[in-house]
Amino acid sequence: MREAIRADLPKDMAARQKAFSGNQSEAEDSLKWMGILEKRGWSVPHWPVEHGGTGWSPMQLHIFNEECANAWAPDSCWGATMMCGPVIYEFGSQEQKDRFLPAFRRGDYYLSQGFSEPGNGSDLARLRTAARREGDKYIVNGQKIWTSVAYAAEWGFFLVRTNPDVKPQAGISFLMIKLDSPGVTIRRIPQLNGEADLCEVFLDSVEVPAENLIGEEGMGWTYAKYLLDHERTTSSFIFFNKREMARAKEIARTETRHGKPLIEDPVIHARLMHLEAEVMALEWSVMRELCREEFKYNSTAAASTLKIAGSRLQQTINEFQVDMIGVRAMRKFPFEVADRTEAPLWPDYTENATPRALVMRAATIYGGTLQIQKGIISKLAFDL
Ligand SMILES: Cc1cc2nc3c(=O)[nH]c(=O)nc-3n(C[C@H](O)[C@H](O)[C@H](O)COP(=O)(O)OP(=O)(O)OC[C@H]3O[C@@H](n4cnc5c(N)ncnc54)[C@H](O)[C@@H]3O)c2cc1C
Repeated sequence: MREAIRADLPKDMAARQKAFSGNQSEAEDSLKWMGILEKRGWSVPHWPVEHGGTGWSPMQLHIFNEECANAWAPDSCWGATMMCGPVIYEFGSQEQKDRFLPAFRRGDYYLSQGFSEPGNGSDLARLRTAARREGDKYIVNGQKIWTSVAYAAEWGFFLVRTNPDVKPQAGISFLMIKLDSPGVTIRRIPQLNGEADLCEVFLDSVEVPAENLIGEEGMGWTYAKYLLDHERTTSSFIFFNKREMARAKEIARTETRHGKPLIEDPVIHARLMHLEAEVMALEWSVMRELCREEFKYNSTAAASTLKIAGSRLQQTINEFQVDMIGVRAMRKFPFEVADRTEAPLWPDYTENATPRALVMRAATIYGGTLQIQKGIISKLAFDL
């Protein structure tokens, strides 16, 4: 598997991923990578076999994902493969399965998740974007925010309110909306790391064919919970943490102070060892979950614990890298000017180190904030 991934992965794609400073890979690279993996039947390995999955065990999947990360492969198109795809194969009609699933598998287009709204992020059940049924279409009005990569996406899967007169959770539906529809306006939000991946999406009397409703009207909340459980269980960031730990060690061995490698500094060495122990503990905890016979994408207290531990570690390791690199970590290298054919002036780990550490601030926010995860743990583990 390692050999196959490294043979298939284009070198320029791996280089972009290594230097990347956003919170997810370039959409174009993710789509191309999906197409490459599809040829081996590996683009949606975790899906059921009848929908194009591999039938691998959770541990085999884990190994595959780790090998992809270590080779610096781009992310898969997570909106399609981790979130919307599973909702469609679980709850969609046959026509919807035929229409969307092969396209998701091939990486035909990018998909965004339109859930959060201004004022309704953690408290998603109170979302206000309204979809009114008129004959064979819905008329959608409202606003979404923090919609990752919406500017490069062809489709979005949205949570919308179809019934304002029932309890909040019961009035929500799951709608596929084409983002070039008349009435959709997308505005990119400048971010601290210098990127603008996150978007505001304005929906102004957008006409959406009723056939784009996934499953039943009013069942959107149930589908969203199913989908967010997928996101949470995969949010330990273990592959990322292991890879970034390796980069931290490379920095400690290469950078010098007073003529000596940093790794010989007792304070640096102690920090490195401490982080290494935390990464190993996280890996063992992930393994334990994977080996549990009943492993399923369920919202367990363990999944929330892994999300908290993994997201905090990501932040700490990246900040540690910046500390070690020092002032050169401040430089941001745009891809366009980085001439990779010549020997680089500075080691490649300096590239975008600070923007990368800054974007990690978001790891304890997306996929359910740190505080929300703690709430889940207190409820599920301690019945509070
Ligand atoms: C990089 C990034 C990418 C994202 N991508 C997407 C995307 O593609 N699609 C999408 O729909 N959304 C996306 N989001 C939005 C994300 O899901 C929300 O930011 C998140 O759910 C928090 O909601 P909020 O921002 O409205 O904060 P709020 O819910 O307003 O929370 C503000 C603060 O209050 C705390 N808080 C809120 N409620 C409670 C509570 N009950 N108990 C204790 N503390 C509480 C929170 O922990 C947080 O610290 C993204 C966010 C980020 C940062």
